[in-house]
Amino acid sequence: MLISVVVPCMNEEASIPHLVERLALAVAPYQDRAEILLVDDGSTDGTWAAIQTAQQSCKQLRGLRLSANRGHQVALTAGLEAAQGERIFMLDADLQDPPELLGDMMGMMDRGYDVVYGRRCERQGETVFKRATAWAFYRVLNAMSDVDIPRDTGDFRLVSRKALDAVLSMPERARFVRGMFAWAGFKQIGIEYTRAPRAMGETKYPLRKMVRFAVDAMTAFSTKPLKFATRMSFASLGFSALMMIYVLHSLIVYQTAPGWASVVLAISLFSGVQLLTLGILGEYIGRLYVEAKNRPLYFVSEDTRAADVLPLRKVI
Ligand code: UDP
Ligand code: MG
Repeated sequence: MLISVVVPCMNEEASIPHLVERLALAVAPYQDRAEILLVDDGSTDGTWAAIQTAQQSCKQLRGLRLSANRGHQVALTAGLEAAQGERIFMLDADLQDPPELLGDMMGMMDRGYDVVYGRRCERQGETVFKRATAWAFYRVLNAMSDVDIPRDTGDFRLVSRKALDAVLSMPERARFVRGMFAWAGFKQIGIEYTRAPRAMGETKYPLRKMVRFAVDAMTAFSTKPLKFATRMSFASLGFSALMMIYVLHSLIVYQTAPGWASVVLAISLFSGVQLLTLGILGEYIGRLYVEAKNRPLYFVSEDTRAADVLPLRKVI
């Protein structure tokens, strides 16, 4: 098998036929040396039925159905673990990432690269809010993490078997796939592309999931937030020392201790700092707990290729 295409899908029933059509065209030059893996991430609409229907007309297609919704990054991981190709191409189901770029990426990999990632030079059809938060996210992420994660780069990429096996050997449960590839190293290069608007349906990343994703990304790659908490504590200590001098001074020299405004200010400032520090600590402790439980990341409930003779790389 030369190429595996991996696509996580959650409630993408409308996109699937179009997606499969374009993917089939993109992998046509590789014929039966290509496979298209669609991972149904616990969809509640007709995504699985759409995958099964598409499979009848596209022999390269394989569907994996997770037993429940596990999130974009885990669904992607499930597909990566099942992939059998020498090169693995990943993209979103909503056709925001053009499958047609596969040829160019293959060409770059032929020149000796292990990871060819797509860098969004323009985002079409996304709200100002999404663009602004995404812009800030990649910048804060880089300031907060020890690995240099390429900016404005999603999971849209072509990776070699060598790079993939390196990432799959990383045991953590907090999967932040693009960061894991950055951390793994190897020869990497970016290719610029215009991110198209979503072809169908709506985003599966509401604000709540975006925040979770950002916190996951930041805590998964460094302990800088903890150091930030320490620094913040020192700063607030310094501030309270100054305030103490001021209060004592006015008490001794002027025999007054001015009003409640400063009291309210101090209490709210310091309790804010304390709670934030606790929150940062909590994020790490929570993650320790989750990692320590060491549960399987996902379960596959259905596999359209289960009846075939091909051995699966990994079925949980
Ligand atoms: N996705 C998934 N599980 C989830 C959320 C999203 O598999 O819990 C998939 C989704 O179907 C899509 C990809 O992840 O293929 C990216 O999601 P989306 O396009 O909604 O994100 P956006 O482009 O808006 O950031
Ligand atoms: Mg999208």
